[in-house]
Amino acid sequence: MGRQPLWRRVSFIPRINYFKPAGIPLAHLQEVCLSVEEVEAIRLKDIEGLEQEECAQKMNISRTTFARVLNSARRKMADALLNAKAIRIEGGNFEMAMRRFRCISGHEWNVPFEAMINTPPQSCPTCNTESIMPLWPPGLGWGRGGRGKHRGWRRG
Ligand SMILES: [Zn+2]
Repeated sequence: MGRQPLWRRVSFIPRINYFKPAGIPLAHLQEVCLSVEEVEAIRLKDIEGLEQEECAQKMNISRTTFARVLNSARRKMADALLNAKAIRIEGGNFEMAMRRFRCISGHEWNVPFEAMINTPPQSCPTCNTESIMPLWPPGLGWGRGGRGKHRGWRRG
């Protein structure tokens, strides 16, 4: 690791991350996928009513990037509303929202930030080992990393 992706800063993660139009059989249902930062862009601009410049600053991105993220989000929401598609909210590069974990056997998975605050992961969802540690950000004295049994692991 050691490589740090460009994280967009978000301060809100929707609790409900799936919206489905009524009356459409699952087999015929199409989905649009909104990233968490796209939702954040809409929240800042359209719910909080901030100027684009402020929104961009809050998300720690350029104004051009913000405009692109916002337009993409609006286009997807319009597509979902007008074409009766489901909306799934997931993914993206955002700070604080997800932390990636790895177990001693090498399985990796993401834990949503909010879920992590409420109930930090105790074991690997794949192999159930309790030898797990967060991959990013490295060095936080948080969770189960840093105990004796993890000694020798390379962090980050
Ligand atoms: Zn595992």
